[in-house]
Amino acid sequence: MKNLHFEDLKNTVCVLTGGGGAIGSSLGVYLSEMGIKMAILDLNGPRAKEVAEEIKAKTGNEAIGLETNVLDKNSLVAAKKIINTKLGKVNFLINAAGGNSPKGTTDLEQLENISEENLQKSFYGMDIDGFRKVYDLNFNGTLLPSMVFSTDMLDQGKGAIVNFSSMSAFHPLTRVGAYSAAKAAISNFTEWLAVHLAKQNIRVNAVAPGFFVGEQNRFLLYDEKTGKLSARGKKIIKNTPMGRFGEYEEIHGTVTYLLSDLAKFVTGIVIPIDGGFNAFSGV
Ligand code: NAD
Repeated sequence: MKNLHFEDLKNTVCVLTGGGGAIGSSLGVYLSEMGIKMAILDLNGPRAKEVAEEIKAKTGNEAIGLETNVLDKNSLVAAKKIINTKLGKVNFLINAAGGNSPKGTTDLEQLENISEENLQKSFYGMDIDGFRKVYDLNFNGTLLPSMVFSTDMLDQGKGAIVNFSSMSAFHPLTRVGAYSAAKAAISNFTEWLAVHLAKQNIRVNAVAPGFFVGEQNRFLLYDEKTGKLSARGKKIIKNTPMGRFGEYEEIHGTVTYLLSDLAKFVTGIVIPIDGGFNAFSGV
């Protein structure tokens, strides 16, 4: 199969949720450079529009930015109408909206000595609404856009969805209980939907980034006061065989591959992009 220049991607339409975020905004420019018309969706409307303008200025390709809530079906349906009118039918969906919050995170890695204070900092002190919000954003925020945008793929007899899982899906990271549960659910759902839609020629895969510094995890990786690596940040680097955090650009190639016909017999997989973190036992 000859597809050295990703010709199949040219003039296609891709919806990118969380397109205003750290990974989404850099991925949007890259995919536009491949000739894909980009619909940048984000809860932060001004940021979505700003990213779309950046894309147009950098690549000269079509792009639109829309304020959209991935947890609200009506908002997604309204966005789809605009995308269909302005860019055409949707070929690809990338579910990059997601993230963690201190409210779904415990202060303690493990509960060792029982005291009032330690219980409060452990699982027992967790804010259930915070847990629910993190879980919903990641899981339902992947489920609902998949339901809304893949209908165009059904009509066209072809399409691809790329979800964002995480290292936390393979082995849960300490402290981030809600995020880990949601990302594990995303990996599982990726396989389920891949099977469900396989006969429709709609492929569903996921990427599982390792550690990339962004706003959502900066507070876990760096000490706020000193700006130095936190104990957790140091632990991550020690357990990443390549010995560093990732650069956002290092996600682009894998996502492009999963969208393109180069991966036309690939569905239901989760690809780690992690400098070897997931392969390393720590010894
Ligand atoms: P980010 O916080 O920079 O971007 C997330 C974007 O999602 C933001 O622009 C935010 O406004 C948007 N968003 C939040 N709630 C929304 C909603 N209800 N509707 C629509 N948009 C909403 O995060 P990022 O680092 O770019 O991460 C992107 C994806 O990659 C996330 O799913 C994240 O969990 C995953 N991930 C990131 C890392 C990392 O190291 N940065 C590692 C593993 C997985």
